[in-house]
Amino acid sequence: MERIGHITRKLWGVLLDTLFPPHCVACGTLLPRNPRHDAICENCLAAVTSRDGFCCPRCGARLPPPLTSTQPACHPGEFFVLAAAMSYVNPAPRALIQALKYEHSRAALAPLLSVLLPYLAATLRGAPETAADNWAIVPIPLHPRRLRERGFNQAMLIAGALTKIELLSRAAVLPDALARTRHTPPQTAEASAEKRRANVAHCFTLKRPELIRGKTVLLVDDVFTSGATMGEAAAALRAGGVKGIIGVTAAKA
Ligand SMILES: [Zn+2]
Ligand SMILES: [Zn+2]
Repeated sequence: MERIGHITRKLWGVLLDTLFPPHCVACGTLLPRNPRHDAICENCLAAVTSRDGFCCPRCGARLPPPLTSTQPACHPGEFFVLAAAMSYVNPAPRALIQALKYEHSRAALAPLLSVLLPYLAATLRGAPETAADNWAIVPIPLHPRRLRERGFNQAMLIAGALTKIELLSRAAVLPDALARTRHTPPQTAEASAEKRRANVAHCFTLKRPELIRGKTVLLVDDVFTSGATMGEAAAALRAGGVKGIIGVTAAKA
């Protein structure tokens, strides 16, 4: 019976591939059968370069290693630094993130991680923390209503993969540390920075302060645009007595 189920799923997959052959999310080229990167073509993926090091979440200034504090000297009021692997201006990461988020294409996750994980591993070597015990990984939560609509939290998918980095192999992934207690409208590209901040003001509640106290938290989201959402989440974490916060995203606008 199980075998029949397996054959049926396989045939269904072949039928779907025949009717809707996979195309590169960035350039539209028909893709060869490539189970590792089956959302993007080799050319587009090869053209994705990773950014370099940490930056200030407010002004974007590069923060030279070694990182001695997660409060950027240029804007210490932000109390977190940003590790963003790619530029959202680059069409390939943007197409992958949108495919992951809005088309539920989990195939888009692997190529994003193939750039993010090496970037983050290299960048963290410039960070003051080295003991894995001191790290905690917190994905930015979705409101339960949005989670029901989407079926998954893309930030959680990324957060869960970070423990593949050796330095973070023993870090706890804490999807329940923060909760989104206020449903907020989707952020639109047109909204002013002020409007975006007002949209998300106080939308996070720290549920489990005991899990993050004294730790350096990697606060994970898919993309960093105005920084309003991550700033709110960082403020909630900070109130729980974290040692430091590093925002981690696949891309930065
Ligand atoms: Zn392509
Ligand atoms: Zn700055």
